[in-house]
Amino acid sequence: MHPEKQIRLLPPELQNQIAAGEVVERPSSVLKELVENSLDAGATRIRIQIRDGGQSSIKVSDNGFGIPEEQLELAVTRHATSKLENLQDLQDIKSFGFRGEALPSIASVSRFRIASARQDGDGGALEVLHGRIVRQDKTAMPQGTEIEVSDLFSNVPARLKFLKKPGTETRKCAELVARIALANPHVDFEFLNAERSVHRFLAGQEVSQRLAAIWPREVVESMHAVSHEDEPLSIHGLVGDPAMAQARPDRILIYVNGRPVQDKTILSAIREAYRGRILGKEYPQAVIFLCIPPDEVDVNVHPAKTEVRFQDDGSIFRIVRRAVLLTLERNSHQTQTVDHS
Ligand code: ADP
Ligand code: MG
Repeated sequence: MHPEKQIRLLPPELQNQIAAGEVVERPSSVLKELVENSLDAGATRIRIQIRDGGQSSIKVSDNGFGIPEEQLELAVTRHATSKLENLQDLQDIKSFGFRGEALPSIASVSRFRIASARQDGDGGALEVLHGRIVRQDKTAMPQGTEIEVSDLFSNVPARLKFLKKPGTETRKCAELVARIALANPHVDFEFLNAERSVHRFLAGQEVSQRLAAIWPREVVESMHAVSHEDEPLSIHGLVGDPAMAQARPDRILIYVNGRPVQDKTILSAIREAYRGRILGKEYPQAVIFLCIPPDEVDVNVHPAKTEVRFQDDGSIFRIVRRAVLLTLERNSHQTQTVDHS
């Protein structure tokens, strides 16, 4: 460091590129941000298309409420959001987004095009290359938003090198779409890879129907429903029969207020409930949706928002364990009754 160097405010593109380092790890993280924005916009139909594992193109279109033409530039400006107004809101988050960072970050490391209309036929479009707006015009499209991210990381060779083979990135994207689709059964999702349909989740499907698209049928059919209220918390979902236990922990999906998260407390509560029913080195399958008052959980822990922090970890652990345990007990009795009859 040179002592004579001046302190300078970084240009916005560079600020965004630095932020992108945290939010935009790979194509599936772009997809997550775009799809969550569509859900925040109240979309009931979301169509996703990728090419080359998402590296050459990721396109998400929705029928949400759209963005007024004069606000498109703000949508790609850092710390600009329609989801948060004050500190009180931050403690009571009901939307997926709130940081106002995703679009500017993504647009700083790709060729980015957003087109949006508040009303049918009456929209605007904006194109950004590596963080700089290169084009803005009007467009006729149905109400909703369409975003295309092309040539991801074309200006960040280090990130480009770190990407896995297109097949692997495609799989991560497909898993992500399925994961989000499970928590939003009222929304129609379509996921295409190079024009070929990978997933089609119709609106109104049950969680188990959507699960059957990604897990073996015999696993899904053996699962038991969890439904447990402990005011003001509620837990519902599905847990695998102990007889179906597996060696890998890759079929445990945890959601907090609809948000897919990695959470050690809930994971260990689930495993604890199975203790004595499966071997110590085995894992059950589980899809657990925890609903909790937003002010009892902090989602602002990490920019990618895949982790949360509970105000009272201990009681979350006990309630989840109890919910799963009751389900397992109820169902093991049923099996016994059948056996004796
Ligand atoms: P955040 O979601 O944290 O607010 P983003 O950078 O993801 O930040 O998006 C910025 C803003 O752009 C959002 O607050 C929202 O107003 C608008 N926006 C983004 N995507 C959509 C969409 N699909 N439909 C409607 N509005 C959107
Ligand atoms: Mg967002």
